Amino acid sequence: MKFDYDVAIIGGGSAGYAAARTCAAGGKKTIVIEGGKEVGGLCILRGCMPTKALLYGAEVFHMVRHSQNFGVVGGVPEIHFPTLMARKDRLIKDFADYRVKQLTSGRFEFIRANARFTDPHTVELSDGKRITAEYFIVATGSSIAPSPFESLDEVGYITSDEALTLDHLPKSMIVLGGGAVAVEFAQFFCRLGTRVTLIQRSPHILKEEEIEAGAVVEKVFRQENMTVFTDTHLKAAWTEGNLKGVSFVQNGQTVRVAAEQILYALGRVPNTANLDLKNAGVQLDLDRFLTNSQMQSNVPHIFGAGDCTGMYEIVHIAIQQGEIAAYNILHPNNHRAIDYRTLISVIFTEPQVARVGLTEREAKQEKIPYLAASYPFNDHGKSMIMEALDGFVKLLANPETGEILGGTCVGPVGGELIHEIVAAMHKRMTVHDLATMPHYHPTLAEIWTYPAEELADQIRI
Ligand SMILES: Cc1cc2nc3c(=O)[nH]c(=O)nc-3n(C[C@H](O)[C@H](O)[C@H](O)COP(=O)(O)OP(=O)(O)OC[C@H]3O[C@@H](n4cnc5c(N)ncnc54)[C@H](O)[C@@H]3O)c2cc1C
Repeated sequence: MKFDYDVAIIGGGSAGYAAARTCAAGGKKTIVIEGGKEVGGLCILRGCMPTKALLYGAEVFHMVRHSQNFGVVGGVPEIHFPTLMARKDRLIKDFADYRVKQLTSGRFEFIRANARFTDPHTVELSDGKRITAEYFIVATGSSIAPSPFESLDEVGYITSDEALTLDHLPKSMIVLGGGAVAVEFAQFFCRLGTRVTLIQRSPHILKEEEIEAGAVVEKVFRQENMTVFTDTHLKAAWTEGNLKGVSFVQNGQTVRVAAEQILYALGRVPNTANLDLKNAGVQLDLDRFLTNSQMQSNVPHIFGAGDCTGMYEIVHIAIQQGEIAAYNILHPNNHRAIDYRTLISVIFTEPQVARVGLTEREAKQEKIPYLAASYPFNDHGKSMIMEALDGFVKLLANPETGEILGGTCVGPVGGELIHEIVAAMHKRMTVHDLATMPHYHPTLAEIWTYPAEELADQIRI
């Protein structure tokens, strides 16, 4: 059969672009079909980059406000919200313009349209045109999950999308959720002066991470005057004058809280509903585009990558998945599989919460033998100099071989520090290797040597 293209990629975000450049570099005639109103993908337009631009602004403000101990004196600093938002907009425009250049550089074809499958080798575009391809990569991303409460819909709320475009700082805000997006926005608004109430269903915020990690962040949030409710069960939402409120049950008691705004941050769903995947015979797991570890669906010539595959909503994973899908199209007899052994996650609160590989909680659940050791930042020279005392580092190692199985860093620039353990795990280093590796003094990074030495002492090899 003759096709219009070797590979058609649906979605031009991080996963789609990574897949397209890999396919084109491998000599495949490739097209990217992008249906969004704006080009750039979630990470650039409404995800990683705008949130981190805002969070860094809030961090600078926080540091200036707490600088008296360092002898920095002067008037009381204020935040000018429009300037902070305009800076974020300028950065995002730059990043998005660059992505447009990459997508339109001529290495592959790029068109603006929504696509849906009409048969396993054909998609119909929103302008009615049809495109056939030998292979497809579905990289359509995710959308904010609909709210589970009718009453919340009636009262109205904002999501992370609207939080990024507010024209004024709300006086008070209820944040629903305790995952990365919820806690990052909660601390951002709190530090700028909004009275924030965070409401989380589970007993701890950041429930995917080590229990102590969520506990440190919760403690810091409370010190920064945020109200945090955990282990709750949401009951209803209501309005009272200009305020929006929610009721929930905690410890058997009904609690009512009200605020100017509600930020709903309870998760996302894969974008697969508008693709008519049944016409191509592709199986879904609920909404999730189901793939094997080679990023291949049950229909061998249709691959998936990024948030639509629903495993992890993390941009470097989306990129890796896109590259693997493309590689496997280029090498049909020599497929590669994705390896989540060194999965990294970073939550950009202050202190940052960063993790690679296994947590102690997961090791216990999966009955994986391990030894663990931790060290606190409040007993480490460089962090004492910086007055960045909250948090700890933790290492997990194989009790027989000493190989590092995982690391968590809750602390100053945790998202940067974790990369030492990423490199160590990538090269399958042991705690003995890490303990004897040179570390400059006084640095934050040398804190890793303490748990490494403790574990190396216990594991004789
Ligand atoms: C507030 C927030 C903060 C985040 N912060 C971080 C962070 O700090 N670090 C991190 O790693 N991750 C972060 N993420 C997650 C990260 O942004 C995503 O994991 C990543 O961007 C997903 O990339 P993707 O290519 O799968 O999807 P996307 O970038 O969303 O790309 C999918 C594209 O497909 C297009 N599309 C959809 N349907 C169709 C169709 N039928 N036809 C044609 N085109 C279609 C869409 O328009 C879109 O452009 C954050 C997410 C949010 C919401």
